[in-house]
Order: sequence, then C-alpha cells, then structure tokens
Amino acid sequence: MTKSVNRHFVPVRSYTHFSNDKNINNLNIDDMDSCTAEQFAEMLDTLELMPYRNTNAAVAAVQKALILVEALDDEQLSQRTRLIQSDVMARQGKVAEAGRIMFHIHQWAEEHEHAHILARSHRLIAGFYRRIGDNESALQHAIAGLRELPDTAPPSTRADHLMMLALTLDEVGAYDDSERRFQEVLMLATLMDDTQLLMFALNNMAYTRYEMGQAEESYQLVHKLRELAKRKNVELGASQLDTIAQVEILLGHPAQAEQTLEPVINNPLSRKLGDLMVLPECLLTAAEAQRLQGKLAQAQSTLDEARHLCHEHGLPGLMVRAMLQQSELYAAAGDYRNAYEEHKRYHEAGEKLRSTEREARARIMQITFDAEEARRDSELFRELALRDPLTGLHNRRYIEPYIDELLEDSFAQGRSVTAILIDLDHFKTINDTLSHQVGDTVLVHLAKILTLTVPPSSALARIGGEEFLAILPDTDAAQGMKQANRLRQAIHSADWSPITGSLPVTASLGVSTMAGIAIDRTELLAIADHRLYEAKHSGRNRVVGDSL
Ligand code: GH3
Ligand code: MG
Ligand code: MG
Repeated sequence: MTKSVNRHFVPVRSYTHFSNDKNINNLNIDDMDSCTAEQFAEMLDTLELMPYRNTNAAVAAVQKALILVEALDDEQLSQRTRLIQSDVMARQGKVAEAGRIMFHIHQWAEEHEHAHILARSHRLIAGFYRRIGDNESALQHAIAGLRELPDTAPPSTRADHLMMLALTLDEVGAYDDSERRFQEVLMLATLMDDTQLLMFALNNMAYTRYEMGQAEESYQLVHKLRELAKRKNVELGASQLDTIAQVEILLGHPAQAEQTLEPVINNPLSRKLGDLMVLPECLLTAAEAQRLQGKLAQAQSTLDEARHLCHEHGLPGLMVRAMLQQSELYAAAGDYRNAYEEHKRYHEAGEKLRSTEREARARIMQITFDAEEARRDSELFRELALRDPLTGLHNRRYIEPYIDELLEDSFAQGRSVTAILIDLDHFKTINDTLSHQVGDTVLVHLAKILTLTVPPSSALARIGGEEFLAILPDTDAAQGMKQANRLRQAIHSADWSPITGSLPVTASLGVSTMAGIAIDRTELLAIADHRLYEAKHSGRNRVVGDSL
C-alpha cells in the first residue's frame, strides 16, 4: 500500500459542511466594512486558521481582509494578512509563489522580532516543506513554530501548531513523539469542543497506526471517529471514510470496507465538491475491497474509473498505486504473465516518480529563492507544458494533435467522434463580484466535475480562460448530445454555494460530431463553437448540437 502524500491535508477540503461548528466558521468578514486595528487583529486570529479548515471560504475572506488592512495602514497587520494569503495560495497549488511570500515575511518577522508572525511563518514554512516532500526541513520549522509561539496565543492556534508538529514527526517516523503531540491536540480540541479538529486528529492518528500495521489500535481510533460523528451529527468526509475502509481491509473485512465507501463511490452527481479531490483514492481502495471479495469484473471497472481520474488530473503518485492494484487484479484472475508485466511497469513508474519528485523539489526551491528564475520558469512552463497549471487538465497544445490523430483513425475505422465545447455563463460576473481568485476556484471545481462526468474514454482539456473541450471517441451525435446534457446538468446541479454563495454557476455547450464524412479538427471545432454561440444566444445553460 502506498501512502498518499496528500493524506493529511485532504480532510481539510471536505469540511465545508461543518458550517455550524463554532470558533472558526462564524467569521463574518463580509459584514465588516471598516474596523479598528484591534478588531482586525482579533479577526485575524480566526482567519489564520481558516485556510486549513475551509480553503474555499478562505479565498474570499482573505481578499476582503487585504482590502480592509490597506485602510488601516499598519505594517504588522498587513504582513499577517499576506501570510494568510500565502497559505491559501499554497493550498491552491501555487507552492513556489506561496513559498516566496512565506520566506519573505519570515525574514521580516526576524528583523522586527515579531513573535507571532515568526511563529506563524515557521508553521507555514513547515507546510511548504511538507508539500514538496522535504520532511526533515518541515520538522525543523514545525518545532520552531511551536517554540516561538507566544504563551498568549489562542488555544486554536496552539492546536494548529501542535498538529503540524505531530504530522511532521509522524512523517519522519518518530511515532511516539507524534502520538504525544496528537494527544495534546485531542485535549485542546476537547476543551474547545471543536468537532472538526477532533475528527481531523482522530483520522490522522488512525492513519498513522494503520501505516504502522497496528490494525487493532487503528480500528479503535476509527471507531471513536465514527462515534463522534454520530454524536455530533456530522457526516464523515470522503477521506475519513477512506481511512476507515483501509483499516477494515487490513483487518480482513473487505465487504465492510466496500460498504463504508458506498456513499462516495456511487451516484457521481451527488458527490460533494470537497470530496471530489479524494475520489481517486477512494476508488482505489474500493477496487481493492472488491478484488479481495473475488468480484474481479467490478474491481476492474472501479479501477478503470480511478485510472481515468488520475490520468485526467495528472496524479502520477496515485497512478503508481493504481498500477499495483492492476497487477494484483491480474494475479487474482490467474493471469500471471500480465501481473508480472504490470508489476514491472509499477516498479519503473515508481522509480521515475521519485526522480521527478526530486527534480520538482529542486525546481520549486529554485523558483522560491530566485526571482529571475521564477520569471524564466513561468515563461518556459507556458512554452512547454502540456497541462494547464490551474486545473491540472491537459491544454490546447496537448489536445490538438490528439484530435487530429483520433479523427484520422476513427474515420478509417468507420467510427464517429464527438466534440463538446463548454463555456461558463457570465463568468465575468463571478470574477467581478467575488474576485479573480474565487473565479479560479470555480474553474478548478468545474474541471473536477467535468472529469467525473465524462465517460472514462474521453479526453478533456482547458482550451481557453473558461472554455473547456471534451472529446468523446466512438460517440455518435445522439450519444454526444446525451453526454453533453449530463455535463450541463452536473454543472448546474452541483452545490456551488461554498464557493460562490448565492451566485449560480452554469455553462453553455456546443456539440459537433464527425460521423461518416471526413472533417478535420478546425471544422469540427468551428461547428461546435458556432453551436456554443447559439446556446449562449438562446438563453445560456443549454446544449446545442445535431439533434435536439
Ligand atoms: P458568457 O456567458 O457570454 O460566456 O459570459 P462571460 O462573462 O463568461 O464572458 P466571456 O466568455 O467573454 O468572459 C470570460 C472571462 O473569463 C473573461 C476573463 O476575465 C475571465 N477569465 C479568463 N481566464 C481566467 C482565469 O484563469 N481565471 C479567472 N478567474 N478568470 C478568467
Ligand atoms: Mg468564453
Ligand atoms: Mg463565458
């Protein structure tokens, strides 16, 4: 079993539904139009913990705080706010850019001997190093982050620093020390009656025990987690269910594990946005549970969906885990030749991943500490990359040659191909009323929804600002329309409120199909574009294609 790098971060993303939890989510910065420095400082105590609890909500809150702090003209408060902004950026994947800001503010705090900002920047830099996989440096900063924290810091902040220390200790294998720190987090969380934090700590403690192969201890913690959720009447997030399922597999109860994951795996349209991030992991666990029960065909189809998601989102770490599952699935079916071949590929992919990670780490460090390098790098990146850095989807550079080849092959084989062009409706309004960062978050989630809704054989790309393209091989006009309508419906019916509040998010879609008659990419896309235009003009949130 491979450990997911994101494991400990993941629960954070699924917390949007704990809206009645106290202390953190009651931050109502929207109502603050002007405030004194004292009021603002007090608000920051809460805002500082928000990216960790609810990244989506933090995006908008930080934007607002940046505006408010400008009027106060207070350097310390301004540095604190920018530090929170860097935390949000890191969680959105802009790791190097975030790192630059964190180190910069850290230096400022040292020069000005500002204890709180010094402690917070250590804590965030620890997170930065964890993200790029440098666990030793992460630990050093986590230790300093706790040491420098003033005694006057609120208990929720102390718990946050303890949690980071516990996680980094865990990652370097100092399990006993890690356990002790987790216990302190539990104690504080109990004192504060902070359900979210309790669940988060229990989930991580269970996972640590699981990694140590201590099935019983792990199960007890998982049991506590379930009980707590029941008592507090909160739903378990996808990553928590995944932890529970993995423990159940370890204990030899695959059927139970499959059932645990049921709410996440089934009914794609009802999946929560926050859960989408963890879905590939849950699918891999479910595939394993199904294989262990001898349900090999079902395991294969679950695994195929997981591979599709890993591929679309460029998740090489999970892809490696999927290969191992595939190899074991072949073996379970008695196909030892393919099992061996797949295992070899798994091994090679693992090696390649490690060296890629080493390179990526070096690159991020370089960009973080060298401004000139950062500029060059982003230009180079735009030149060469085949993926869109914001959504992780493929970009135009990737999809164009793919379409050319697909059209040629399909025509030769008498198969049809459908293209669906997707453009968000009134996206400018979202940018203008909520901020560009909220707009970005919408795009990221849209990419997830599209990936989850298109058939596994399709290719997806972000081909413009808020324009996406899905290419469906072997799909005729009627099937294409059906798929396009599923996409429209999935976007329309998703719960966007944690991101956009009351603003709806919809898209218009144009569909075109090559069937029987040879057409080239330009033509195919021009037809789709024309129909998209029609969809916009006939009222938006609709699909226009061959057969209506
Ligand atoms: P329509 O329904 O007609 O499509 O209206 P619209 O507001 O979506 O109009 P249009 O397609 O002309 O505008 C797209 C906007 O998307 C303009 C641009 O500022 C914004 N945009 C483009 N790329 C990005 C991005 O990466 N992030 C964010 N947040 N906004 C982007
Ligand atoms: Mg557009
Ligand atoms: Mg648009």
